Amino acid sequence: MNLNILVLPGDGIGTEVTREAVRVLRHVAGKWNHALTVKEALLGGVAIHKTGNPFPPETERLAADADATLMGAVGLPEFDNAPPEKRPEKGLLGIRKALGVYANLRPVRAYPSQLDSSPLKNHLVEGTDMIIVRELTGGIYYGTPRGITESGAEVRAVNTMTYTRSEIERVARMAFRLAGARRKKVTSVDKSNVLENSQLWRRVVTEVAREFPDIALDHMLVDNCAMQLILNPRHFDILLTENMFGDILSDEGAVLAGSIGMLPSASIGDRKPSGAQVGLYEPVHGSAPDIAGQNKANPLGAIGSVAALLAYTFNLQKEASAVEGAIEAVLKSGKVTADLRPSGPPATTEQVGAAICDAI
Ligand code: NAD
Repeated sequence: MNLNILVLPGDGIGTEVTREAVRVLRHVAGKWNHALTVKEALLGGVAIHKTGNPFPPETERLAADADATLMGAVGLPEFDNAPPEKRPEKGLLGIRKALGVYANLRPVRAYPSQLDSSPLKNHLVEGTDMIIVRELTGGIYYGTPRGITESGAEVRAVNTMTYTRSEIERVARMAFRLAGARRKKVTSVDKSNVLENSQLWRRVVTEVAREFPDIALDHMLVDNCAMQLILNPRHFDILLTENMFGDILSDEGAVLAGSIGMLPSASIGDRKPSGAQVGLYEPVHGSAPDIAGQNKANPLGAIGSVAALLAYTFNLQKEASAVEGAIEAVLKSGKVTADLRPSGPPATTEQVGAAICDAI
């Protein structure tokens, strides 16, 4: 198979973890005889430095041409007070929108060997295995009108939470299809007791559920969901929610597994006319300026994103399972970075990447 991949290392530890992810991808391509082409482009703070734009047109062109895009992370402290248009995060929103990846999938799984690094008691977190499906290109992060206006002595800020029926339908269908290959359960999360936007969300998800009679659907309010994720994480198989709720809940989900550095994500949209699944794959974590450049970032989130890329965009299930199996084996071996609190000396980012290749 021909695998044409665009890599966007981004900022901070993004460059370090994607280096290891690409190493694993090359290893997989070599072992299973796939022709791999890897191109690199700019996104985020590094792109602002080099071009003045967090999402340069050249990056947009290369991403549209690639089969799949593998991203590191964006964000540099020097831009913390910059206007929205000149912030690295603008690049992130830009590429998601440009690729039309409207569903963000974040698997949250408690690996038996990592139970002790979860902040929850072992008996609560044991057996947790869910995918959080977050709507990614609508809702309050994109809605207009938005902005800050001043009138006399008063200042007013406005954001708009907006969804259409079709935006909800397509992400709901994706969630129900995923549930079909798992434990056949979708929990849809909203705030329908207060927000009209959520009332539409609940109505449309309930309608879409009728197309999938073998999947059980329940609804949960977002405040209760924040609590249930900690009290009873095994309740969830597919957790489906809108953009901002998903942003917040998926970070809560992230810590259940032990370290945010371990978590992969896949952002997917419709299929291209060729049948290929459009996909943007990235670890859940940010650019971690506090540990950048020290070869101690956990690359497993980025490497897990490679497994997702192989599975979703190329339907290479054997290869994806080999990467996932290697992650599990390396976790078990204890050759892990400092964030996972190994009993011996922590491994470096590079050593973990090499150990994954060996395990494959
Ligand atoms: P962060 O995820 O970068 O870091 C949070 C904490 O987790 C830090 O202590 C960090 O050292 C640790 N951590 C994160 N990833 C790790 C890894 N792979 N291995 C070991 N430890 C890891 O979040 P933050 O500090 O809130 O944000 C830093 C910057 O990243 C900001 O500019 C933010 O906007 C940006 N950000 C980008 C993305 C993205 O690109 N998708 C996501 C979140 C935050």
